[in-house]
Amino acid sequence: MRTPPVRGGENQKENHMGIYQETLQSNENYAKEFKLGHLPMPPGRKLAIVACMDARLTVEQFLGLSTGGAHIIRNAGGLITDDAVRSLVISTQLLGTRTIYVIQHTDCGMLTFRDEELRERLAKETGKDASHIHFQSFTDTEASVARQIQRIREIPFLPKDIDVHGFLYDVRTGKLQEIGLEAVKAAAQG
Ligand code: ZN
Repeated sequence: MRTPPVRGGENQKENHMGIYQETLQSNENYAKEFKLGHLPMPPGRKLAIVACMDARLTVEQFLGLSTGGAHIIRNAGGLITDDAVRSLVISTQLLGTRTIYVIQHTDCGMLTFRDEELRERLAKETGKDASHIHFQSFTDTEASVARQIQRIREIPFLPKDIDVHGFLYDVRTGKLQEIGLEAVKAAAQG
């Protein structure tokens, strides 16, 4: 049985070595069987997805996408940050994307802290000021998805006919639920 990862000390070091060796070994096997070298650069399904980085979301799998099908932009929360905007503009204007999805999910880590608490903790633990970092924690995931769709609609550099959809993914059932127009309208007014 594998030792569970433990913070600090030798166990942590062993765990790091384990993942390092395992992943590089896996890549060697992957490259031996690799048959996708012919794929073109633009995403085949003309789709870009902004999704939370949560380790339980295997985005390609739960949407039935293959390698080369979609741009997948991931960050903590699945938020339309400045960097997500940068990627979406490049995806749509240079690489042919016509549809954008925002995917957040149940039991998100972003619900478990407040920005202010994290800043205080960082100041205490590192002695450095993190007050300039917006961690963008939130309390209502559905409202957050609606807000991200609203942010996408406010980006002036996207093609006008872009199709935008927002979803909540249930980590217990694997099911996607689309966030309706009402929520998006409410987000636009709030
Ligand atoms: Zn999350």
